[in-house]
Amino acid sequence: MKVKFLKIIAATCLAATGIPAAAAADNAFAQSLHLLQQRDQQVQSIGWKLVRGNAAFCPDARPSIGLLLQDVAAFTAPQTVRSAIGISGDIAVQAVAAGAPAQTAGLPVFAEILAIDGEQMKDLAPAGKKNWRRLLDLHQSLQSRLSANGKVSVMWRDGAHETRTTQIAGVPACPSSFEVIAGSAKASANGQRVAIGENFVGFSYPENLFAAAIAHELAHNILGHPGWLDANGRKQRNVRRTEREADRMMPWLMANAGYDPTAAERFMRLWGPGHDGGLLRGRTHDGWDERADFIAAELPAIRQSMAESGTADWARLFVRQDQP
Ligand SMILES: [Zn+2]
Repeated sequence: MKVKFLKIIAATCLAATGIPAAAAADNAFAQSLHLLQQRDQQVQSIGWKLVRGNAAFCPDARPSIGLLLQDVAAFTAPQTVRSAIGISGDIAVQAVAAGAPAQTAGLPVFAEILAIDGEQMKDLAPAGKKNWRRLLDLHQSLQSRLSANGKVSVMWRDGAHETRTTQIAGVPACPSSFEVIAGSAKASANGQRVAIGENFVGFSYPENLFAAAIAHELAHNILGHPGWLDANGRKQRNVRRTEREADRMMPWLMANAGYDPTAAERFMRLWGPGHDGGLLRGRTHDGWDERADFIAAELPAIRQSMAESGTADWARLFVRQDQP
């Protein structure tokens, strides 16, 4: 949601209209904010199903409420953002995952956040030069409060300017956050976070196929791949090992999230032919057809586990890839 991208959209839309320039720019800017919000909402909701549905198998599951915040200070024109979403401070609700406690508590999108556990947002230190840092810190502090107390008190103001305070109790979820990255078409994972580029092709797929891509990135975090690659080096055989393992884990995670696990294989057969690395195929990643076969090979064990316990018990039944 970085402003560079929004400015480009505003300029493009401007050229095509006859309405006054300032109004057209504001209108286009508001539309681009809403588009990005919808993408954030989509990713939060799919991510929530995955981290919530697999909590029983994540040894480090923690209380979570499915809330993504926004800091308008991260934009180059904060006042324009405030006007577009109708807040007077800096911190707002960017997305609430469908079915998560933040949604059940009635937190509306773009509501202004006034205080969290009594800490006033107006008293936050200025955003500073690294203006993305304050939002990261705020999400981390929200998580610390939830992990310590199991719940959090949120004071917020809705569009009608009514102030409310809501206690929101967390429910167990695997520890990963989800974020949409402006100006990117990639999907990636860094150990704590799954990042989906706003131009990632998965946004045009049906939900269960998009969920497969997010499950693949989440699998990297759950299996500790980024840390393992840091320690062992990003050699071709190491990357190939982690990619194969994340592929094989996809249908397990999906089954527990309520998705048809066969969608993982279908995702690979749809996405793979255009995106499996071209000339690099076979070096760091297996070819897409092999990748789809490895996913399919997991399905009988998942079906059996689902039939026996109603869950895909990957903690017990998923076989880790041999170390290279
Ligand atoms: Zn991967």
